[in-house]
Amino acid sequence: MTWAAVARYGMDPAPGGLAFVQEFMNTIAAGKPRRDDLLADLSSAQKWLDDALSDWAEATAAAPVAVTLEQDDLDRLRDFRDNLRQATAAVGEGTQNNEVTGPATLPVVPVGMQWDESGSVRPVPRGSGWRKVASLTAAEMFKAQVDGSWSRVKACRNPRCAVAFYDRSRNNSGVWHDVKVCGNAANLRAYRARRRAAGGTTT
Ligand SMILES: [Zn+2]
Repeated sequence: MTWAAVARYGMDPAPGGLAFVQEFMNTIAAGKPRRDDLLADLSSAQKWLDDALSDWAEATAAAPVAVTLEQDDLDRLRDFRDNLRQATAAVGEGTQNNEVTGPATLPVVPVGMQWDESGSVRPVPRGSGWRKVASLTAAEMFKAQVDGSWSRVKACRNPRCAVAFYDRSRNNSGVWHDVKVCGNAANLRAYRARRRAAGGTTT
């Protein structure tokens, strides 16, 4: 597995199929130097999606899923991603949990439920194009919200970064995707602001 969109920001993927959601959110252009938006054009979007679906099938031991994107899917897929990120970031700022209670612009999508020979049920994505990507994303988010791991998916608090990371800290208190990259710079800014507010006095 490569989870290329996550790896390019120097992060570890979320466990299991939840990494697909994190991967999708990190197709954005971010970082320094600025990485490309992987959904900027059809060929890069399709290549990213093929790789991400292959990683997802490997991570979940599920039957492979194929999605063919058309030009019309691109705007919808980017809109869905941006709304999803907005919902996650908005909730993450104010509360402990990252339950999606954000903008109502997140779509209703179909998800199938499939039994295997042993009677276990698993959600399977339905639809085509961007809707199938949204369906898979919804299924993985639902599973993560049931098992609690969703509360560990967070947007980095640095507004200039805002990549989606999986918080593995013991008490789920992390706010930076990488303390060295985003946390130290922010702490330094806050320290200088406090010094200014105190009239520049040093102790
Ligand atoms: Zn960051």
